[in-house]
Amino acid sequence: MSYTEEYVGVKFRHVKEGELEFDSSLNEIALQLQKALSELPPETLEGVTGNISARLSDGILISATRSKLKNLMVPQDLSKVVENTLGGDIIRYYGSKIPSSETPMHLQVYQNRPDVRFCLHLHLPNLEKLQLLNRFPITKEAYPYGTWELAREATKALGSNDFVILRDHGILAVGNNLDDIIQKIISISQI
Ligand SMILES: [Zn+2]
Repeated sequence: MSYTEEYVGVKFRHVKEGELEFDSSLNEIALQLQKALSELPPETLEGVTGNISARLSDGILISATRSKLKNLMVPQDLSKVVENTLGGDIIRYYGSKIPSSETPMHLQVYQNRPDVRFCLHLHLPNLEKLQLLNRFPITKEAYPYGTWELAREATKALGSNDFVILRDHGILAVGNNLDDIIQKIISISQI
């Protein structure tokens, strides 16, 4: 099974606050994301791409719309969403591109989980098998991508776990250590 929901762009309201200035600390985080993605098996990054983010002191850094995780370009494929949007319905961002369509889900996780520093959402090719195994937390309802309903449902099903299946859609892996997240996805992708 592959993820086939039609992409119609972002579903949240958004305001661009300006360009994103990359200082050394932001650059270091960006390169960390890029390096982590390069360690994933290629088949986990095929087709409709997912999204990745990191918590910042004043917001989150997240892959942008129309960026490919297989070949994430720094800095142009990253946007910064500023923290005062948490819980609000307008996404305010800095960067050359609109942040990922799943930004609401990432924001919701960071708001609910102070321990989480990184979030990674992918469309794994073995999703159907993972769902049948009944071994992982899974969302009850399959809400459309990019909605606040999906964001809330994902956060609820995730609970205090570090991994959740978004029913008929993909997976979300979170944690405070990016290497742990990558290792977890590698092992799950081999099931
Ligand atoms: Zn997705």
